[in-house]
Amino acid sequence: MSVLDRFRLDGRRALVTGGGTGIGKGLAQALAEAGADVAVCGRTAATLDVTVAEIESRGVRSKAIHADVTSADDVRAAVQAVADDWGGLDIAVNNAGITTWVDAVDMPEDDWDRVLDTNLKGVFLCSQEAARVMIPQGRGAIVNVASISAQIINRPQQQAHYSASKAGVVHLTRALAAEWAEHGVRVNAVSPGYTRTEMVNAPHMIPARPIWTRDTPMGRMAEIEEIQGAVVFLASDAAAFVTGHDLVVDGGVTAW
Ligand code: NDP
Repeated sequence: MSVLDRFRLDGRRALVTGGGTGIGKGLAQALAEAGADVAVCGRTAATLDVTVAEIESRGVRSKAIHADVTSADDVRAAVQAVADDWGGLDIAVNNAGITTWVDAVDMPEDDWDRVLDTNLKGVFLCSQEAARVMIPQGRGAIVNVASISAQIINRPQQQAHYSASKAGVVHLTRALAAEWAEHGVRVNAVSPGYTRTEMVNAPHMIPARPIWTRDTPMGRMAEIEEIQGAVVFLASDAAAFVTGHDLVVDGGVTAW
């Protein structure tokens, strides 16, 4: 098999959380372009349905699954829906994530819980359910979407809960990779830098954008398409000996 063929995902069955918008939508489209059948899950049917229609237009299978990643029952049902309908699960991209901006000293307990439950517990629950299908298969690739916030403290926003959650995702990735390597399940993370999505288009984030581009050696934010290649690589056989890795895609932010 040629090296380029090893990047192909034909016949693989994938589930992308938060696949209705932003980076998750871009990642779902990329996996489909590489040949995979791709299910997307989230809490908003309308956005998921649009992604599904776009994926199906590429000639692969897709499905929208309503699920809240903070609910173990929802996550179990989502993974089971893919495994039952498509006969297994080969790729899990755990992308769903949220943030708020609030000084740590004023942070309501609810904010802390919501961000940690979504970004860290959600990634754990999704990884755990995926592994329960992948381990008996003897094969699978899990890719967790972390962030540069796992390594650096962002400016000017105050988001201690988000940074802590993403650092947790990177270390959780290593722990799961070590546990599941012997079962043929690889677990990696991708850490995007500042990326132009709805999350960063929120009105309160606009004034921060010049600071982010100043803090980025490449002098700009990423386009969603620039995150796609890293995830296709880690999901594919091109990364057959890569596990427990955090692949940073940040225009150099973490180099400074
Ligand atoms: P978006 O807000 O566009 O996407 C977040 C997605 O997660 C939405 O589709 C949302 O769907 C879903 N989601 C949120 N909460 C839940 C939940 N409880 N259950 C299921 N789905 C949920 O943001 P981005 O595309 O920017 O972010 C995607 C990921 O990339 C996040 O993990 C984020 O932290 C990370 N990231 C983003 C960066 C950026 O600059 N944009 C930089 C580094 C990392 P719904 O609300 O319908 O459930």
